[in-house]
Amino acid sequence: MELPQIDWENPPLDPPEQVAQPLMWRLAARLLHDHVTAAGSWPLARCRVCELVWPCPARRYAERGLLAACRHPVAGRGAAAFTDWFLAADEPPGGGW
Ligand SMILES: [Zn+2]
Repeated sequence: MELPQIDWENPPLDPPEQVAQPLMWRLAARLLHDHVTAAGSWPLARCRVCELVWPCPARRYAERGLLAACRHPVAGRGAAAFTDWFLAADEPPGGGW
């Protein structure tokens, strides 16, 4: 998997050219840009939208979604293992991408 050379702290809403799953990118990028730290939430940073401790679950899903969007979809058992990882908080199956 080749990752686009972008600012990952501020990813573009439109997917870079080499993104394999553009819709997933768009959804994840919107989510990521929405779930940012609320102004004045110091010393415990909280999310502007859901008010949970930051990074909130939505933010973390968004970060994973951006990475997953760069990966070509797979079929079969590999797809099931990837889905399990994506929905859990573990490391990717098979030791990497
Ligand atoms: Zn949030």
